Amino acid sequence: MLPINLAIVGVGKIARDQHLPSIAGNQNFKLVAAASRNGAVEDIANFTTIEAMFDAVPSIDAVSLCMPPQFRYDAAYKAISAGKHVFLEKPPGATLSEVSDLEALAKHKGVSLFASWHSRYAGAVEAAKSFLASVKISSVHIVWKEDVRHWHPNQEWIWEAGGLGVFDPGINALSIVTHILPTDIFLRSATLEFPENKHAPIAADLHFTNAENVPVHGEFDWRQVGEQTWNIIAETSGGQMVLSHGGATLTINGAAVPAAPETEYSALYRRFADIISNGTSDVDLAPLRHVADSFMLGKRVVVAPFHDSPEAG
Ligand code: NAP
Repeated sequence: MLPINLAIVGVGKIARDQHLPSIAGNQNFKLVAAASRNGAVEDIANFTTIEAMFDAVPSIDAVSLCMPPQFRYDAAYKAISAGKHVFLEKPPGATLSEVSDLEALAKHKGVSLFASWHSRYAGAVEAAKSFLASVKISSVHIVWKEDVRHWHPNQEWIWEAGGLGVFDPGINALSIVTHILPTDIFLRSATLEFPENKHAPIAADLHFTNAENVPVHGEFDWRQVGEQTWNIIAETSGGQMVLSHGGATLTINGAAVPAAPETEYSALYRRFADIISNGTSDVDLAPLRHVADSFMLGKRVVVAPFHDSPEAG
C-alpha cells in the first residue's frame, strides 16, 4: 500500500548526498525513521540500532541500508526476517554467499530485495547498450581512475578486508559493462596493487574476454590527481563508442548522442517501488562476481604505503 514507509540505516555520505533527496522526491515513499550509531536525519524518529527502530516503529515497510558493505548482512538479515523490503547500497555485500543467502531469505519471507547498481542508471547507459547491440565489438577499454583522497577522505573501512579498495568505484564500471555488453565476459588475468599498509588494492589491471576472445581491458587506479577518468571505450564495426563521465555522456565516432538527464538515485527508488509493487526481487551479482574473480585470479604486487595525508608518507 502506498506510500511505502521507509527507514534508512547508516546515515553517512551517500545517505545524505543521494538517498535523502531522492526519497524526498518520490511520492511512493515516506521516510519515517533512521537508525545510525552517530548520524541522524532531521524531523523523523532516530535510533542508534535497527532493532530499537523496528520495535518502536512497527509500521516500517522497507529499509535502505547505506552502511559500508562489511556491516550490511546482519542488518539485512534482521530486516528481511522482520518482513521488511530491503534496498542494498552497492556493493550488495562483502561476499557473494551472504547476498545469495539474503536472496533466498527474501524469497522465503515474500519480501523484495534490491541489490542496487546506481551507475547502471546513469543517463547514457541505455543508449550505449542499444548501440552495442547493433554492431560487432572488436575491443573494450575501461579506464576508471580517480583520486581516493578527494572521494574517500579518511574512510578506513574502504581499505579493510571486504572494503574492496579501488574496486569500490571499479565495481561501478563493472556494473555498467555487464549491463551494456551483449555477451558475458570472464576474467583471464589480473594484477592487483596493494599498498604495503592496507588490506585492499589501490590499483587493478584486469583482462577479460568473452567466449569469442573479444578483449575487455580494465584499468582501475585510485592515485589519479587532476582530471578524473570514468570512461568505457568500445571499438566496433560501427566506429568508436566512448561512454564517459561514469555513464552520463556518450559519443559515437566523436558525435554526441543525447542522454537522459542525470537520474541515478531517483531511478533507483523508482525501481525499488516497482519491484515492491510487483512482488519481485532484483539481485544481479555479476559485478560482484567479477571482483571476487579478480581477488581469486589476480597477481598481488605490494606498492608504496598509502596515507590519507600525502605528507604523512
Ligand atoms: P560512510 O559515510 O563512511 O558510511 C556510511 C555510514 O555507515 C556511516 O556514517 C556510519 O554511520 C555507518 N557505519 C560505518 N561503519 C559502520 C559499522 N562498522 N557498522 C555499522 N554502521 C557503520 O560511507 P559512504 O560513502 O556513505 O558509503 C556507504 C556505501 O555506499 C558503500 O557501500 C559505498 O560503496 C556506497 N556508495 C558511496 C558513494 C559515495 O560517493 N560515498 C557513492 C555510491 C555508493 P553511523 O556511524 O552513524 O552508524
